[in-house]
Amino acid sequence: MRPLIVANWKCNPSTFADAKKLFTAVDRGAKGKRATAVICPPFVFIPGLSALKKKNIKLGAQDAFFQEGPFTSQISAKMLKQFGCEYAIIGHSERRALGESDEIVNKKIKAVVSAGLCPILCIGESGQEREEGKTKEVLERQLGLGLKDISRFKIQDSKLTIAYEPIWAIGTGNACDTDRAKEANIIIRKTMTRIYGKSAANKVKIIYGGSTNPDNALGFVKEAGMNGLLSGGASLDAKKFIAILSKF
Ligand code: PEP
Repeated sequence: MRPLIVANWKCNPSTFADAKKLFTAVDRGAKGKRATAVICPPFVFIPGLSALKKKNIKLGAQDAFFQEGPFTSQISAKMLKQFGCEYAIIGHSERRALGESDEIVNKKIKAVVSAGLCPILCIGESGQEREEGKTKEVLERQLGLGLKDISRFKIQDSKLTIAYEPIWAIGTGNACDTDRAKEANIIIRKTMTRIYGKSAANKVKIIYGGSTNPDNALGFVKEAGMNGLLSGGASLDAKKFIAILSKF
């Protein structure tokens, strides 16, 4: 599998001029790289960045709403598709912290799949859940509920990616060690196999996110068997993000 390296810019940068600069620099740096680079900027920058028609990177969104109509402030998966988005991050822990439930995550995944975007489903345990030995239970629950009633065929066609993002590792500079990431990877693959069968489960990409940087990036793929990375902080620095891409 070609590694998938996803940049989650979160609520950054503050101007479109800076977003354009970062996007253009990453596109230039991504030329000829083996990994697929996906940039997920804030919604408001998507149309402008999409118009730049870059060749070496793909566009994604940080979320997508499941319905159109009287839903103030929301942006639907279908709207994002029109502006060149190919991917959508769903269920990021920063959204779950604002009250997004597994049931809402499930509706969003379904909407993303039917709009023809590739979903990136984020799952991961909190520090407390890790200490209480609940990592497996949390991952299984988030997968079961997040993907509820989505058929094997849809999963196969959707190019689903699961991002294992332990909450305690996000934005802390305290990345997960590769042994623990490998354990999570195995739990996710086994759970997907149990739900969807081996052939569909093996088509799903499993990536790691949480304080990745150019020094630890390769370990998550080589040692933990991940199919790529989701990068937050490091993706806001073109040099660092390109250095991560260049590892593969
Ligand atoms: C993220 O926001 O998904 C993330 C992994 O952030 P960071 O790389 O900054 O930990």
